[in-house]
Amino acid sequence: MSDRYDVVIAGAGLVGASLALALARLDWRVAVLERAPFREVAPPTYDDRTLALSLASRNILSAIGLWEGLETRPDDGSTAGVTPIRSVQVTQKGGPGLVTISAQDHGLDALGYVVQARRLGEQVLKTLPGCPGVDLLVTCEVTDIQPGADDVRVSCQLAGEDTVIETKLLIGADGTASRVREALKISSERYDYDQTAIIANVTPQVHHDGRAFERMTDTGPLAMLPHVEERCGVVWCCRTSEAESILAMSDRDFLAAVQERFGYRLGLLQRVGVRASYPLARLTVASPVAQRSVIVGNAAHTIHPVAAQGFNLGLRDVAALTEMLTQAAETGDDPGDATRLQAYADWREPDVSRTVAFTDGMVRAFSQSFGPVAFARSAGLLALQLAPGLRGALAHRGMGFGGQRPPAMALAEPAR
Ligand SMILES: Cc1cc2nc3c(=O)[nH]c(=O)nc-3n(C[C@H](O)[C@H](O)[C@H](O)COP(=O)(O)OP(=O)(O)OC[C@H]3O[C@@H](n4cnc5c(N)ncnc54)[C@H](O)[C@@H]3O)c2cc1C
Repeated sequence: MSDRYDVVIAGAGLVGASLALALARLDWRVAVLERAPFREVAPPTYDDRTLALSLASRNILSAIGLWEGLETRPDDGSTAGVTPIRSVQVTQKGGPGLVTISAQDHGLDALGYVVQARRLGEQVLKTLPGCPGVDLLVTCEVTDIQPGADDVRVSCQLAGEDTVIETKLLIGADGTASRVREALKISSERYDYDQTAIIANVTPQVHHDGRAFERMTDTGPLAMLPHVEERCGVVWCCRTSEAESILAMSDRDFLAAVQERFGYRLGLLQRVGVRASYPLARLTVASPVAQRSVIVGNAAHTIHPVAAQGFNLGLRDVAALTEMLTQAAETGDDPGDATRLQAYADWREPDVSRTVAFTDGMVRAFSQSFGPVAFARSAGLLALQLAPGLRGALAHRGMGFGGQRPPAMALAEPAR
């Protein structure tokens, strides 16, 4: 291990690990610092949550070598880790179905894909440790940062020992409570939704057949995502004051409560797995860049999961930053060059602003105050977010691929 790098990434969660794999192809020394023990147990971020991923995200994960392993059926007899979303059905508790958007009607195989974060973590565990050009330092917690004119000094606790690592460019991918963001004094704005997402996998009586459901209920949105082994991933957003009692319910009571909100479109909900909860907040920054540093993923923008956009947005950060840094590597430029970092920030700003605004609109629509029409419109928009190909002539504007885009972003372009 060297203590001088071209690029240091703080955090090997969903976004940091993806970025490390994307940068591994450059002729640079890259280090990833992850505070959790990684080799035996993946960081907490690789948990049971089911992630709805867009077609563009599939392309990005494929380009960095993570998708194929997810699609391949493992030898141990378990099912492959990817479930295509064939349709999105939006319904209102106590009312008729509002809207259904199907991939087939639009000549697509899928509107998007559902992947379990844990399965993605398994692929990262197979790929990142030992990846040429990348040092993965685990049980390594970033504690302080001193940016300078020529490099950034990153102070960390590596297996309990005080260590200093120097780098030309520091990338903070350390999540919503980012220490990197705080140490760099990047100002942020946080809004607490007073909602908590409770997730669990359930097995319904009727096979989901690739159908995803978004359900508007009086206590917040409930999503039912098609998943492997006939299961569905439930994301139930409730008021924070109710979360504790929902988590404390017996499995039987929990299934009955979900059934009461979801109805019987998939028959009786029969089995439920482990439950987990996530307090929901929105976090934005005026600018993700500082001297020789940039923050990406949840560290730069945390959004409500109602529109299933958080990781999709973070992957677009990965694709854009990789494009910028590839240009720097090819021309022998300094990775931490301020002009290039600012160009990255300018490039990402419209996509981030649009996605944050869109997600906030969804939260309001799903709170019923907008009424069914706006809700249905939002549901249509949700499908468009997942599958920008539905926009026909506007396809390339979807998912932030419109406007100015450097050529290598083609690798992340949705298929048309
Ligand atoms: C219930 C729920 C459902 C969701 N569903 C979807 C969905 O369907 N589709 C979608 O696109 N997105 C979804 N998301 C959003 C998605 O989970 C996040 O956008 C994504 O996890 C962000 O990844 P990240 O790598 O930026 O941050 P994180 O996943 O939080 O990773 C941060 C990493 O940094 C490490 N770290 C933290 N501090 C330090 C430090 N000081 N030093 C070193 N390492 C550190 C942590 O251990 C962690 O490994 C959902 C979120 C929730 C809560």
